Formats: sequence, structure tokens, C-alpha cells
Amino acid sequence: MIKKSEVKKKINLILELQKNGIENIEVLKVLEKVDRQIFVEENLRQKAYDNIALPIDCGQTISQPLVVALMTQFLDIRKDMRVLEIGTGSGYQTFILSKLARFVYTIERHKFLSLNAYNLFKKLMVTNIFCKHDDGGLGWKDQAPFDRIIVTASAPEIPSKLVEQLSINGKMIIPIGDQHNDQVLKKISKNKEKLSISDLGTVRFVPLLEGKENK
Ligand code: SAH
Repeated sequence: MIKKSEVKKKINLILELQKNGIENIEVLKVLEKVDRQIFVEENLRQKAYDNIALPIDCGQTISQPLVVALMTQFLDIRKDMRVLEIGTGSGYQTFILSKLARFVYTIERHKFLSLNAYNLFKKLMVTNIFCKHDDGGLGWKDQAPFDRIIVTASAPEIPSKLVEQLSINGKMIIPIGDQHNDQVLKKISKNKEKLSISDLGTVRFVPLLEGKENK
């Protein structure tokens, strides 16, 4: 159960998102509805509604709410869409996507995080999220093409396998750049095999790494 003091923090967070360019009512409603608290460690729960990234297991991070909202807003998801997410992490972004899309396919390279998120979704009785422990840079070929693709770790360049698995008229969002500097959030739209790419500002994400970890 969310406490009264936390409701206030949550309202402030939603106002902050609105002030910073989040105008899609559906996106604001979902961020307001989802308790970020359940995706962070016990000792960080009082910071769950601060507009900051927080550490999670395996040396990774749960993304900043504004970045989650911006990426979700750009994706412009409809209720009949199939979405691929690379970097399940805490499962926070995945859960938000599941409230807007038909199906969400999410890949995480850390076995521990993938299993953790899987168990959490089961507990939350979500039935439209599919989890996979693998290298997300390869995409999810059996389930392709996807209407939307979101990558929540930073890649040196746009992974060609993901572009291949994006539908015509599909959209993808991905941070590009190296781990030690600011990265650029790239928006990619695919029209009849042609790609349009534009920038959405600077961000900081953990790196998209090759291969998978068995812990
Ligand atoms: N959306 C998540 C972000 C987690 S951080 C959240 O808000 O909680 C990014 C995640 O991407 C990390 O958990 C990291 O392990 C994962 N990751 C990095 N490279 C990956 C790859 N090649 N395939 C799948 N997951 C990857």
C-alpha cells in the first residue's frame, strides 16, 4: 500500500514530468498508476518517486522516470501493438509498456534480473509480458517483426538485427554512445524499408553488452 506522504511525492513527480515535456495523457496516467516502489530495493523505497535513476542488482540501474516517460511517449504505443524491449532490468519500463501495448517481449542478459522480473510479473498477475534471458542485441527473431522496439542500455551504434526486426511503419528508440560520456537518445522510424533518424537529447544509460550472464 502506498503511504500518504508518498502520494504527495508521486503527484509532484507527475507535475515535474508534465513540466518537462510529457503531454501524452495516457503516458502520464500510466506513470501515475504504476508504483515504482515495487521495482526498487527495500532500502531505496523512500526515493522511488524522486526523478532519478537508482541502483538495482547486478550493478545496473532502474531508469529515471522522466526518461522512461519520454521514451514511452515517443513510441506512441497503441493497444494492438507488439513491443520488444532490450534490457528488462527492474521490469519497471516493461510493466509500463504492458499497460499500453498488446504484448511486450523483453530480453535481459543477466539471468538474475530476468528471473526476478519474471517472478514479479507473475506476482502482479500480468499476462502480456514474455521474458527471455539472452543477448538482446540479437533481438527475438521468432517473434519478429515488432511494431515498436525500445533499448534501455546504450549501444555504440544502432544494432542492425534490431532494425531488421522492426515492422514497416515501426518506431524504435535507443541511446547511442559510450559508457563514460553522455549519450544521445535516437528516434528511428522505418518507412517502407527507409529509416529516418533524429535526436531526442542527451541521456546516461548503462552499456548494452554482448553475450549473456548466467548470474
Ligand atoms: N528499463 C530498465 C533499465 C535497466 S538498465 C529499468 O528501468 O529497470 C539496462 C539493462 O540492460 C540492464 O539490466 C542490463 O543488464 C541490460 N542489458 C545490457 N546489455 C544487454 C543485452 N545485450 N541484452 C539484454 N540486456 C542487456
